[in-house]
Amino acid sequence: MIILDTKTDYKNHIDLLKSKGEIISLVPTMGNLHNGHLSLIKIAKKNSSKVITTIFINPLQFAKDEDFNSYPRTINQDIDKLKKNNCDILFIPKNKNEVFDNVDNLDHLKAGPKGEILCGKIRPGHFDGVLKVVYMLFYLTKPDLSVFGLKDFQQLYLIKQMVKKYFPKLKIISAPTIRDKNGLAFSSRNSYLNHKSINIAPLFYKILLDGINNLKNSKNVEKTIKDITKTLEKNSFLVNYVSFLTTELENFKPNSFEKKVLLSSVKLGQTSLIDNIEFI
Ligand code: AMP
Repeated sequence: MIILDTKTDYKNHIDLLKSKGEIISLVPTMGNLHNGHLSLIKIAKKNSSKVITTIFINPLQFAKDEDFNSYPRTINQDIDKLKKNNCDILFIPKNKNEVFDNVDNLDHLKAGPKGEILCGKIRPGHFDGVLKVVYMLFYLTKPDLSVFGLKDFQQLYLIKQMVKKYFPKLKIISAPTIRDKNGLAFSSRNSYLNHKSINIAPLFYKILLDGINNLKNSKNVEKTIKDITKTLEKNSFLVNYVSFLTTELENFKPNSFEKKVLLSSVKLGQTSLIDNIEFI
């Protein structure tokens, strides 16, 4: 695996791969790699001839009071995992300038109204920051395809919208959420959970699953949201939101046959958890 940390070296390698006619896939991450990330790399490997992973903790997507400084940094373990999973190139920009030429030029990249609901409402500006880094990584890499996790459903939706506009030839692959045996979705932030919270956290997914089953019987969205919220709170979760939407992040009518998604964000102690489940 080739490891690069400057934009110049990275671009040179990309040019070399392009000149050889390689099909390039890109898997952007913030590191502290877990089985969820590795599943994206496996999907990328199946669909391309060269897999590039990036590890960059993007300051633009963190608010001042968020965990940018304490975000887990485990670069040596990450490198081992990437080698074992046959990643071809790892780009770890050594500083912000190696990604962002001039952030002012990216002001047109706004997530818009669908970036201001759900996680965007509790993290104002978060998705603008996400779109800026993903745009720059696509701009530098010019990949044929890129893989993102459905775990971050709203993020994936907004990236797809951005790609339609700015990178129409780029294929985005949506990867299923990988969970621990107990149902808890893998997340780098799970490492913040203390001994007690680790046993409670898997209830998040179970309560959401029960909510979907209840909605199928009752067809009452408002009541189901209230019930899910109450059950989450009873189990020590602080609820940021629980929302039933279409997969286009729009409201749906009762009895509709559209594909839907239940999205939720909670806090367990100091740890933020998000999850979602698609259903019909
Ligand atoms: P992150 O490092 O958290 O920015 O995530 C990098 C990529 O991994 C994003 O596309 C995430 O959606 C994806 N991802 C994170 N957790 C999981 C998971 N449990 N299963 C599948 N993909 C995931």
